[in-house]
Amino acid sequence: MNAEIISIGSELLLGQIVNTNAQFLSQQLSVLGIDVYWHTVVGDNRIRILEALRMASDRSDIIITTGGLGPTMDDLSKETITEFLGMQLTIHQPSLKRIQDYFQSLNRNMTENNVKQAMFPKEALILQNDNGTAPGAVIEKDNKVFVILPGPPAELQPMFLNYVSTYLAKKTGEGIFSKVLRIFGIGESVVEELIKDLLQQQENPTIAPLASAGEVKLRITAKAASREQAEALIRPVQTEVESRLGDAVYGYDDDTMETIVLKLLRERGMRLALAESCTGGHVSDLITNVPGASDVFLESCVTYSNESKVARLGVSPDTLNKYGAVSHQTAKEMAEGIRKTSGSDIGAAITGIAGPGGATVEKPVGLVFMAIAGSDGTKTKELHLGGNRMRIKYSSALQMLNWLRLYLKK
Ligand code: ATP
Repeated sequence: MNAEIISIGSELLLGQIVNTNAQFLSQQLSVLGIDVYWHTVVGDNRIRILEALRMASDRSDIIITTGGLGPTMDDLSKETITEFLGMQLTIHQPSLKRIQDYFQSLNRNMTENNVKQAMFPKEALILQNDNGTAPGAVIEKDNKVFVILPGPPAELQPMFLNYVSTYLAKKTGEGIFSKVLRIFGIGESVVEELIKDLLQQQENPTIAPLASAGEVKLRITAKAASREQAEALIRPVQTEVESRLGDAVYGYDDDTMETIVLKLLRERGMRLALAESCTGGHVSDLITNVPGASDVFLESCVTYSNESKVARLGVSPDTLNKYGAVSHQTAKEMAEGIRKTSGSDIGAAITGIAGPGGATVEKPVGLVFMAIAGSDGTKTKELHLGGNRMRIKYSSALQMLNWLRLYLKK
């Protein structure tokens, strides 16, 4: 089967927004094994939308439109598609109720033009919008499938992933199932080198590296009639990849480094406290983004100045004078200090030079020391990171979490 994407919106033609919806949909359709032969962009104009629909339905099996489902006069997509298909718009009561409830929950008045968003041809299968007011729809006519999606990516993406992909997978007769391996500590080129032969021989399942900030992801995708069959195809490939990448595989699918660290702390029955300098609390921020972290995460101290390192953590002024704030010794005393004052099982600390100032020949920008203090003593680690200040803060926070993960796994 082949598909065409018609992105509707004058903003796209004016260059005011980038057509990321077309990119997202093409990526997803390729995972489903559906070929995309055409991308069309058309403004909010009835005549030209009709023309785009005519061309698309002459040459494509699946026609996906995005945008123009809003409540205002210039949102014409649904009206024009309905006209093109020779159908009539009527109110879809469950959608109207959802929109009314949505406004009520926000304590806002629903305006009359919002009713328009609940109008669909009776032939349409309605796609619930879990993130906004405009529902989408699938309409089949003369062996063609029309999929109508809203413009905002935060609404379109979940609608596609939760409803449309299953619908289209059924059309193609096979389901697509994938598993994402999340990798930290080795770069994409090294990952590719380690699994080069697997990448070359792949068929079903396929293995694809996905670009991602600060980590590498590998998506293993299988086509099969059921999830069980797909899992049976994925499992041996996953085992082989993991045996080659070892500890660098830290999680799967929606896992993050912080959820894994919290999970390991719970499994070990251990509690963590942090002392952060160069990261300014970023490690704690990541950890506290996870709901329920307080059962294993006790506290964090952002000790940015030398005085605070002494006052809050009991770092010795002699250590600071002799070795400096960015050193193995200071990191060690910070970790031991926070462990002692908080009563945690593990104290972890991080101190470094995020730049652009503060560097010397011996201590360049990007030099970072971390320490983990536990019942078996204190370990320290030295890192040399690249990039600007924000990047160094971000990657040193992830390095800290990754080291905690490896420490807890042992
Ligand atoms: P709404 O209900 O918010 O009006 P809509 O379905 O009518 O949504 P549009 O009005 O076309 O969609 O677009 C709404 C917003 O969605 C745009 O301002 C833009 O931010 C985003 N958007 C629309 N089309 C695209 C696209 N192709 N790629 C990325 N973003 C898009």
